[in-house]
Amino acid sequence: MKAMLLQRTWDLEENPEPLQAVEVPVPQPSPGEMLVRVTACGVCHTELDEIEGRTPPPRFPMILGHQVVGIVEETNSESPIFAKGERVGIGWIYSACGKCDYCRSGNENLCPDFRATGRDYYGGYAEYMTVPQAFAYRIPEIFSDSEAAPLLCAGAIGYRSLRLSGMRDGQTLGLTGFGASAHIVLKLAKYLFPHSEFFVFSRSESEQVFARELGAAWAGNITDSPPVNLDCMIDTTPVWKPVVESLRHLAPGGRLVINAIRKEDLDKHHLLELDYPLHLWMEKEIKSVANVSRQDVREFLQLAASIPIRPEFQEYPLIHANQALLELKNRKIKGAKVLRLDRNP
Ligand SMILES: [Zn+2]
Ligand SMILES: [Zn+2]
Repeated sequence: MKAMLLQRTWDLEENPEPLQAVEVPVPQPSPGEMLVRVTACGVCHTELDEIEGRTPPPRFPMILGHQVVGIVEETNSESPIFAKGERVGIGWIYSACGKCDYCRSGNENLCPDFRATGRDYYGGYAEYMTVPQAFAYRIPEIFSDSEAAPLLCAGAIGYRSLRLSGMRDGQTLGLTGFGASAHIVLKLAKYLFPHSEFFVFSRSESEQVFARELGAAWAGNITDSPPVNLDCMIDTTPVWKPVVESLRHLAPGGRLVINAIRKEDLDKHHLLELDYPLHLWMEKEIKSVANVSRQDVREFLQLAASIPIRPEFQEYPLIHANQALLELKNRKIKGAKVLRLDRNP
């Protein structure tokens, strides 16, 4: 099968083509797993964190990709959950222990044995992958494969972020960065909180325009001040300055949720600008989001289908994965990026 392989970590400035197109054998499903023929795989900022070594795969080579839509080709279980030919989705959570306190309380995303698709196990930048059948999802029929792929990470983690923000209808919400996850959060929040107003911060003018098109009451630069203070904020940027700026805009008792698996260190010096009375006093809170649970993905897929939320996306053939990643890094973004495995360039 064709796969895009990562052999080691790279600085993308030095090597803009870190993934190599190769032929590798089709994997065999172990007991409890199934073989999935991948049709679409979303491109996520976490892949940049893996390539650039901020959350590197524990072994190489690795096949990245954790927003996977495909068709069940083969099951290896005496009690299969999915039938051959069924369409399934696979997200960031590849497995968890199932026994620890976190797993038993529904917080399997915090499990010490959390394993990630496309980092700890081979993911969806390939024509086939295997997955434990208990960690796959039915995809609501309403979605095409390319619409469904970004829902599996960008959407599901956006949903978790919004939930952790404690947002209530009528409150104000700010979003810093406006890529794949944030644009889905805006669509979701508009539906869940019809009396709320939404404010988007982005250094990219095209993202600001896009945010206004999707119904943001205001969109500006990260250093601009919104017309009101914000009860909740979700940061989806890879850097620190937006964190400091967000805290400044938070209303008393407000909460900032950082939706990022890692932050880049290059602008960490902005943290020294933290001024306690301005940024933290008045019971402001900061919370991070880690991974997703299966429950997040299931709930979000149902919610997304009932609204419905259809992510904006751009498609690339598998062999152009490097180009998609580079465009993501350079924030040439309008919505999500999706690799198509079933189409030739
Ligand atoms: Zn992701
Ligand atoms: Zn566990």
